[in-house]
Amino acid sequence: MASSNKTLVIRNGTLIDGTGDPAAPNDAVVIEGNRFSGVGQLPPGLNLEDTARVEVIDAAGKWIMPGLIEGHCHLSFGFPAVSSAKYPSGRGTVSPGFSAIRAARNAQTILRSGVTSLSIPGGTWFIEVGLRDAINAGLVEGPRIYTAGRFIVTYGSIGDYEPSWVGTPEHTLGVLANDVSDMITEVRRQTKHGVDFIKLADSTWGDTQTISKEEMAAVVDEAHRRNARIAIHSRGAGSTKAAAEAGVDWIMHADLATEGELYAVAEAGVRIMPTMTFLFEALAVGKERGRSDEELDIIRRNAESAMQVLEMARSLGVKVLCGTDSGNSPVMPYGELHAHEAEVMVKYGGYTPMEAIVANTRENAYAVGMEGELGTIQPGKLADLLILDADPLADIRVLQGGKRLNAVIKDGRRVNLNGAAEESEALLALR
Ligand SMILES: [Zn+2]
Repeated sequence: MASSNKTLVIRNGTLIDGTGDPAAPNDAVVIEGNRFSGVGQLPPGLNLEDTARVEVIDAAGKWIMPGLIEGHCHLSFGFPAVSSAKYPSGRGTVSPGFSAIRAARNAQTILRSGVTSLSIPGGTWFIEVGLRDAINAGLVEGPRIYTAGRFIVTYGSIGDYEPSWVGTPEHTLGVLANDVSDMITEVRRQTKHGVDFIKLADSTWGDTQTISKEEMAAVVDEAHRRNARIAIHSRGAGSTKAAAEAGVDWIMHADLATEGELYAVAEAGVRIMPTMTFLFEALAVGKERGRSDEELDIIRRNAESAMQVLEMARSLGVKVLCGTDSGNSPVMPYGELHAHEAEVMVKYGGYTPMEAIVANTRENAYAVGMEGELGTIQPGKLADLLILDADPLADIRVLQGGKRLNAVIKDGRRVNLNGAAEESEALLALR
């Protein structure tokens, strides 16, 4: 990381500032500390020759935009792939130490792919809470993290994978809470341990509603009282409507919602995060990575419905957040797909590339609790920025995988991109 003591000046290039304003030729973007101090003309009196105090990046012929905000990524689920004889201590999902170190390395990979902020709706133990604090303390390099703990689930919800006589040990994604009292206790436990938001989780594919509206409302009330936001994994129509009426802050997936249900979501002013990248990736590579035909049929159903939901949401004025569900399984590798949702929005949602960029930057700041602070290149905002050698407005796919990145700046500091390729090779086995 470069020193943040120096004033950083980015000259030239084409600026996409994340507000939705048209791309424009850039004279100077100036960063002091971790914030943008000037955008537009080079400030008079700033001596670019003073290399002890000023670092200049020439972006001529390149594109400048805000750092990407990934709204849905998991770092500590752990996969059986890790349980090879070579890594006995990493067997499955049961080693917190291995999982934490692996999460830290993957966070670095994600940052180097252009994602400067990450919303994590659930992990094991409190690994992401610790990682967030370690990143903020400068111990390891990674995106800004906003995280939930383990999903709060009832019997039959996603994350309740063990038989009832086993329960939900710490290494599982879900923590069982089968009544309001248990749910409130878990909200209190998680907020005590420093989560930024609570993740409630309904059934895996949305065929049954596993949490009642009253239970959701009780959790919302307790979480908000403790200054935590609340998001829910909800696909099915019944659950999506209930969640909107219960006052959750955002709904993940919502892909089986009907028009009537989406109307309730619009009425409540709740955001949805369709997370379609995962559905499409599962359909594309799921079979070779262990998904059954039966499951792929269900995923196809949800993907088809999701495309309609995306269109209806747009016509009803429901705000859409962007997340990919990277890290949820071996079909979702780190560092590659984080901007894929922007491509989905352009291809299937009727979004322009500019609208898709705004959705993945300014609008997605909501998913990391920093709306108004982050996601645009404007004076006073947090200085997260990318320089690309290809025009994302001409081809939105250039945002994926970090291959067209010339520079990543997070919190006013330039990220060292050297070695990124080597690293992703080394980490391939640990997805
Ligand atoms: Zn997820």
